[in-house]
Parts: sequence; C-alpha cells; structure tokens
Amino acid sequence: MLIKKAYKFRIYPTNEQKRQIAKTIGCSRFVFNHFLVKWNDTYKQTGKGLTYNACSAQLPQLKKELSWLKEVDSIAVQSSLRNLSDAFSRFFQKQNKAPRFKSKKHPVQSYTTKQINGNISMEGNKIKLPKLGLVRFAKSREVHGRIINATVRRNPSGKYFISILAETDIQPLAKTESAIGIDLGITDFAILSDGRKIDNNKFTSNMEKKLKREQRKLSRRALHAKNNGINLLDAKNYQKQKRYVARLYERVLNQRADFLNKLSTAIIKNHDVICIEDLNTKGMLRNHKLAKSIADVSWSSFVTKLQYKADWYGKTLVKISRWFPSSQRCSACGLHTGKKSLEVREWTCPACHMHHDRDVNASKNILAEGLRIVASA
Ligand SMILES: [Zn+2]
Repeated sequence: MLIKKAYKFRIYPTNEQKRQIAKTIGCSRFVFNHFLVKWNDTYKQTGKGLTYNACSAQLPQLKKELSWLKEVDSIAVQSSLRNLSDAFSRFFQKQNKAPRFKSKKHPVQSYTTKQINGNISMEGNKIKLPKLGLVRFAKSREVHGRIINATVRRNPSGKYFISILAETDIQPLAKTESAIGIDLGITDFAILSDGRKIDNNKFTSNMEKKLKREQRKLSRRALHAKNNGINLLDAKNYQKQKRYVARLYERVLNQRADFLNKLSTAIIKNHDVICIEDLNTKGMLRNHKLAKSIADVSWSSFVTKLQYKADWYGKTLVKISRWFPSSQRCSACGLHTGKKSLEVREWTCPACHMHHDRDVNASKNILAEGLRIVASA
C-alpha cells in the first residue's frame, strides 16, 4: 500500500540562503496575490472564476515584465498558483472561506516546492533544494520513500524548518494468528489481556516531574503578579516561565510520542486482531488537570497510531463501545457480577472461583467482545 508520510526538520540556512528563502517567499506571495486580484475581478465581471491553467499560461509573460520573479525557484512560484486554485476549488465546494491576500505580517512565512527530477534530495546531514543548494539540517530520523514536496518555513522567532512529504510502499506484516484486548487506565497506561501491564510510571519520565515543578513555579509567579497588581501580559518573569513551561511540555509530549510509537508498533507486529475501548474524547478534553491531560493526549494518540498502523500492515483494530461493561463480567465463565467500586483491584468469581485482577479481567472481556464483533461482521 502506498502511504504518504510527513517529516519535519529544523534547517540551518546560511545568510545567503536566508536571503534566497526570503526572496522566494516574497515572490510566491506576490504571485498568489497578483492572481487573486485577477481571479476576483474576473469573478465580479463574469460570475465565473479563472482556472489554474489560464493563470499558469500568463506566468511567462509576467516573468518577462518582472524579471526578479526569475531569480527564485520557479516550481515554488508555480505551486503558489496551485495553492490559490485549490483554495478557490474548496471555496466553490463550500468547504472554505474565500482565499485572502497573503500578508508579509503573517507570523509564519513559507513556500512549497515540488520534487521534479531529483531537485530535492538528502545528502548526509544536508538537504538539496532548488536555487538554495545544500542546506544543513538536524536529521533526527530517516526519510523513507519518494519525496513528493518540501515546504520551507520561517517562524516569528527566526527559526527555519522544512516539512518533507514522502510516499512509501508498505508491505503487510506477516499474520500471527493472535488476538489481544487492551484496557486503558491511569495507574497503568495499558493492561493487556495476556496479563501484561504497561506501567504509566515507566514512561512518567524525570522530565515530567520537572514539568510539574516548573508548572507550580508558574502558578506562584502568576499569583505574585496578581498580588502586586501587575497585568500578566506585563509580568516579565511570568511570561519567561510560561515560555519555558511550553517548551518542556512539548518535550514531554515528544518523549511520549516516541514511547507510543514503539508500543503500538510492537502490538501491531505481534497480533492480527487488536480490541480496544472506544474513547470519549469530548469528555476527556474537559479535564484540565495536567497528569490527566497528558494521559488523555496519550490515549487518543495511541488509538490513532494503532488505527493507521493496522491499516498499513493489514491488521484489524476493533473498537468496543465505551458503555460495554468490561469490568462487570467474569471473563472465565461469563457470570455478571455487577458494578465494582474503583478500590476493588482484585476479586474472585462466586461461580467459577477464578481469581481476577480487575484490569486484566476487563481487557479479557474487551478481547472477547471484539472477537464476537469480528465474527458477526
Ligand atoms: Zn466466573
């Protein structure tokens, strides 16, 4: 199966490359705005818009008149036009508002260029881009497959990034004839029907503890500012700490993403059918407590990863209704033993005398329910 994957890296252009990037962004913006005016005028006069081809045919003439347009990556200029025409298509299909003029003042400035005859390629820790040549980048992982396009961005703090879209052919994984149920929790992140528990503490890293500390410091600074009658926007120490906490939070999320990638890949590799509770994301988002909010993000991102990896590798993910009473039934004999309060971590079935760990029993029930759904589908 052909899949598209996006990769994002920080790049470190030289001063000359920075000038060229600025120029390319400027030209892309100019062409976008130039044809937006024409498009709007034509629409007013005729009730119909232009087409990508009609605009594209005018580009050579425009380049003759404005020779500086020729100094930048011509594919970037072309894709800017493509963006405009796509934006209009979405507008006419009522998916979007009408395209608006691109502004120099927009916080993120970018341009996109497409892969044509090897004009974009990786060479060690450098990436080759049209008109820029080799740009040094922080290669945090390998890019697999055929590069489709690359977007160069400059953010407000003056950092440069590149997003690369690549297409790769994925082969289904070998079948294992194995199925598994997964119960998601707070103390244990995941409890598997084979009895394994993925301890949450294992991936509550030192970084996370640090984040909690720094978050408390942030609250103290907010309080301090309030007590001194200082507006939070003007409270320098508070703002500084806020930025620091935001960066830490991002790093914690990255660590978690890494962990969840490894866990989901292992599960998909080892099982053909994976049964999991369907999560109620709306209910989860209402909770603002830090520990809980990270757990929420992790759960939904875990389920998302399981879903697309199952699709990629030819495995089946079954989502069980969250109303399914997974903890009320004995997974050995099926006896309905009713609701149990959260303190009950273990119990013995009165009918078959099986001794159960609450969560493992739940994940076994999730597995049974999932297999029932698969069989009846
Ligand atoms: Zn029983």
